[in-house]
Amino acid sequence: MSRSVLVTGGNRGIGLAIARAFAEAGDKVAITYRSGEPPADLSELGVLAVRCDITDPEQVEQAYKEVEDKHGAVEVLVANAGVTRDQLLLRMSEEDFTSVVDTNLTGTFRVVKRAARGMLRARKGRIVLISSVVGLLGSAGQANYAASKAGLVGFARSLARELGSRNITVNVVAPGFVDTDMTRALTDEQRAAILGGVPLGRYAQPEEIAASVRFLSSEDAAYITGAVIPVDGGLGMGH
Ligand code: NDP
Repeated sequence: MSRSVLVTGGNRGIGLAIARAFAEAGDKVAITYRSGEPPADLSELGVLAVRCDITDPEQVEQAYKEVEDKHGAVEVLVANAGVTRDQLLLRMSEEDFTSVVDTNLTGTFRVVKRAARGMLRARKGRIVLISSVVGLLGSAGQANYAASKAGLVGFARSLARELGSRNITVNVVAPGFVDTDMTRALTDEQRAAILGGVPLGRYAQPEEIAASVRFLSSEDAAYITGAVIPVDGGLGMGH
């Protein structure tokens, strides 16, 4: 069955892998992109690309209108768009903190709230939020990012309770370190230190995150809600 799937931040990295995985499985996929143009092969896969900055409620509304127009109401939402702005606490400005929270947490609130409208009407839906292992472990220099990612867990679990009776599941995927632009920005020293803590001894590929997102969005996961699924090579074990 072909569903209307929306992936935020789907022009690169993990979001792009998620969009490709759904499209290859035959779903009607839309992605949002902000600055970078999506790769050309996405349109060959039939993926609809909609420009949207999730910090702007009007752009979110516009994006939904376009997606609903072309693919119908969103049945699967993957809230993936996110940013980092790392800094040690005493050097972290108010803007460093609030801008990361505004994208990662409040931006997710904006897109989820809009998707929930159609899902409530349809009495079914799948929502998957992309958090991070550091939301639970913490990370020096990433207090803003970790707080925003931890916030997604409380947000998802509240919605799991609120929306469960309407057959809408809300789950969180918490990736460890994934080979994308976000982690390519790290120094070799930082990368080596991180890998030392990963039992599987390697970074994840974006496709490995996509596989768990697809599972949570499938019929096989119909009885899973409010869960936080680590896809982190064992880095976050025990949390
Ligand atoms: P990238 O930096 O490669 O991509 C981030 C995506 O989010 C881009 O598409 C970007 O758009 C989009 N985005 C950022 N800000 C906004 C905004 N305000 N409005 C709309 N879109 C926005 O990151 P990854 O693919 O690595 O990460 C994807 C998600 O996974 C993020 O939420 C991240 O926190 C999380 N994650 C990543 C990990 C990793 O190791 N890479 C580990 C754990 C979690 P644009 O191209 O325009 O900038």
